[in-house]
Amino acid sequence: MSENLNITSDFPYSMTLSINCKEAGDPTCTHTILAETEQELFHTAMNHAIREHGMTAAEFEEDVDKNEENYRSFD
Ligand SMILES: [Zn+2]
Repeated sequence: MSENLNITSDFPYSMTLSINCKEAGDPTCTHTILAETEQELFHTAMNHAIREHGMTAAEFEEDVDKNEENYRSFD
């Protein structure tokens, strides 16, 4: 008897944008943010930064400005 390992190619997140907190400039957090659009990614990342990193929305936006290329590399 062999193990029947089914690895499907239709991974549910294949059309999903993702950004790792580390890529976005946080040196320690390994949280990955998933979203379907850049806007959603931005908002989800902002919520994460506020909740998990105690940032304010203004601080987050500043951070995004500094790491702009990470948020615009999805084209
Ligand atoms: Zn984080």
